[in-house]
Amino acid sequence: MKRLAELPASAELVVIGAGVIGAATAFAARRAGIDAVVLEARPAAATATTAAATGVYRVQQDDPDELALVRETVAAMEDFAVFSGQDRYDPAPTRAGLLSLTTTTEGAEQQRAVVEHQRSIGVDGVELLDGDEVRARFPFLAPAIVSGRFRAHDGLLDQRQLALGLLERVPVVTGCRVTGFDGRDVITTRGTISAGACVIACGPMSGAVARLAGVELPIATYLRHKVVLPDVPAVPQWAPLVFDDDTGAHWRPALRGAYVLISVGGQEPCEAVDDPAVEADFAFRVLDPASPYSVARLSPFWADVWEDGRAHWAVQCGLYTVTPDHRPLIDETPVPGLYVNTGYSGHGVMCSIAGGRLLVERLNGERNSFALDRTFQPPRHKTR
Ligand SMILES: Cc1cc2nc3c(=O)[nH]c(=O)nc-3n(C[C@H](O)[C@H](O)[C@H](O)COP(=O)(O)OP(=O)(O)OC[C@H]3O[C@@H](n4cnc5c(N)ncnc54)[C@H](O)[C@@H]3O)c2cc1C
Repeated sequence: MKRLAELPASAELVVIGAGVIGAATAFAARRAGIDAVVLEARPAAATATTAAATGVYRVQQDDPDELALVRETVAAMEDFAVFSGQDRYDPAPTRAGLLSLTTTTEGAEQQRAVVEHQRSIGVDGVELLDGDEVRARFPFLAPAIVSGRFRAHDGLLDQRQLALGLLERVPVVTGCRVTGFDGRDVITTRGTISAGACVIACGPMSGAVARLAGVELPIATYLRHKVVLPDVPAVPQWAPLVFDDDTGAHWRPALRGAYVLISVGGQEPCEAVDDPAVEADFAFRVLDPASPYSVARLSPFWADVWEDGRAHWAVQCGLYTVTPDHRPLIDETPVPGLYVNTGYSGHGVMCSIAGGRLLVERLNGERNSFALDRTFQPPRHKTR
């Protein structure tokens, strides 16, 4: 990252936000020969939502347009040094697999319907396994599981390295908060910069920043947590992401331990804030075997980890930025020259590189299916 000491007086393109979406946007712009500068309110890049992410990519998608974004992004990550022109940072995508499990016959029916739909839009390599087949491949799993949906070529990555790699040759002004717009001038806490065009890529704060220009975005924000257990010898490091379809609880191997999360539908939206507060009992909800959301339900070794009691953990949280159809917004706003690249729900990391390219094509007048004025259909499967 080329950290600039001063705010430049002007730039062809100003990208607001140095998360993975701002990084991908600025990267694509510079690749297209556009002089882009990133303004970031925090002292460091990729430290907001991007840092809180699970670090999962999956071709198992329900929306054909998002499927294309994921495929393009994963392909670029698999050859990242060549793609990004640097070898300092490596998101290291690993085909560890993604396994969704259920203990009910209704859940098994739903899994069949999901797989049928995914196959119909061209998702390949998804297997439906019964309980015995699941346990034969992953012996750490519980007897209660009746069905599993598995794709071996989905996987895990380091999303901070992805963002930092994309930013490696991009000028960034950190500690620079955008506070207003005056025509093509972008007003910040470190002065004013004149922008040929400007992209709001502020994750959950995108709505608040767009409002500074009088633009209302159709987005809501939802709180999500991640328990980071840096060192747990009992976690099989070869495991895939293990997702409990009945509760939304899931875990993936990470560091020398694991990340543990929950993804639930029907949550109330929350206020978009820069630093959302962690709910004190979250770790107990996913780790205590007595909790109905415990990861020990399907992966019993977690009960031993709990009983043993030695594991250290810390809890991070971030906000999902969600549109009514759970697809991103990659478009020019009604204010000429002001663009948005946001609203990726739980898919921003895995769609980032392609989303950045689409935004830059939009700058050049090309439309895409993630327009602000589209008709928002409810999502087929909710991704919160
Ligand atoms: C718990 C959790 C798990 C997730 N897991 C995954 C996953 O496994 N895979 C996946 O693909 N996606 C996942 N996601 C979604 C993904 O993390 C997001 O879609 C993505 O990180 C959004 O990136 P962003 O750059 O838009 O936002 P952010 O990373 O939040 O970056 C926005 C930046 O804008 C800056 N900013 C805000 N306001 C201003 C201002 N006024 N002036 C200047 N700068 C400003 C912020 O400081 C911030 O750095 C997950 C999200 C969460 C919360």
